[in-house]
Amino acid sequence: MNKQAIQKQPEISLHQRILTIDTHADTPIQLMRFNDDMGIRGDARKINGGQVDFIRMAEGGLDASFFAVFLGQGDRSPEGNDQAYRKAEKIVAAIYQSVEQYPELAAIATTAADAEILAAVGKRAIYIGLENGYPIGTDISKISTFYDLGARYITLCHTKNNDICDSSTDTAEHGGLSDFGRQVVVEMNRLGMMVDVSHISDLSFYDVLELTDVPVIASHSCARAIRDHARNMDDDMLQALAADGGVVQMCILGHYVKEVVQSAERDSVYRAYKEKWDKYDDRTEEQKALARIDYHKMEQEFPEKLATVADAVDHIDHMVKIMGIDHVGIGTDFDGGGGLADCYDVSELENFTLELVRRGYSEEDIAKIWGGNLLRVFRAVETGAVK
Ligand SMILES: [Zn+2]
Repeated sequence: MNKQAIQKQPEISLHQRILTIDTHADTPIQLMRFNDDMGIRGDARKINGGQVDFIRMAEGGLDASFFAVFLGQGDRSPEGNDQAYRKAEKIVAAIYQSVEQYPELAAIATTAADAEILAAVGKRAIYIGLENGYPIGTDISKISTFYDLGARYITLCHTKNNDICDSSTDTAEHGGLSDFGRQVVVEMNRLGMMVDVSHISDLSFYDVLELTDVPVIASHSCARAIRDHARNMDDDMLQALAADGGVVQMCILGHYVKEVVQSAERDSVYRAYKEKWDKYDDRTEEQKALARIDYHKMEQEFPEKLATVADAVDHIDHMVKIMGIDHVGIGTDFDGGGGLADCYDVSELENFTLELVRRGYSEEDIAKIWGGNLLRVFRAVETGAVK
């Protein structure tokens, strides 16, 4: 007998068979700050190490990722808005450059179909999402500018209010969407950009749902019933979003997943660190670099106990129970605070699939969670666009 004929074909795992999409990675922060090279395997445990690159995406079986153009909320004056816009342009350029450097490994994606097309040829699909509408300022024409730059979702705000809407972690200012924010949602519907309701206040969320013609996404949000945090979504919100046809992409940022009790030593060292580096966001880049050295030292001596994949899948279970299997997905927030004890970087994403299998989810269900649901919403948004 021909020896080759009896050789067993290597088995393709369920995780490798299905299309996988992560709707939120803050990897552009690594590009801007440390010039991370997406074609070189990085190490998330090293100081300033990133959690995502094309090599580890392949190892972790991740076909597509939305790279977030993230802007921390600053001064809402014309100058502040202009500065934010110029910074956003630079981040977009850095994303293109990081991808175009490796045409054999990855490509920029702009349509729902691109994820499937690129996965079929073994390339990573890199989408662009804008995290925080801040760089739009009060200029509605900037939405189409970002669409033309390739952005396919906008997270309407971040941790502070902006001119579009109130944030879930700030005090009420507009009482939901502002009048300008209403125009923003209408314009995004018209262009075919997904409205991302992560980070926005509960009232902003309901305003968006009332206004939008097409389903919306929460690109990285957990369930408030499992972890009570303003950033997470309560059951009424989950149900309302699902009734509207949308999808909530479960996030793996520790504080949103579970409150993990730390050792007394870690608590005290952490308190001292926070005191020394209070108002971190307002610090200069040099100071931030020093703070990161301190943080890394603390992590080595008193590592933070992290939530686990099982803790995160508890959120998925709950969301599936509340919304049904067609409305749940995954948005990691890697490079923006995401990461679990047993899923510390993108190379370990298969652990989610293993846990879902363990809990009895079928291949069809897992494929929906890993990308099918997101693509359904993405396509509905594309179809709803006024051409
Ligand atoms: Zn975020």
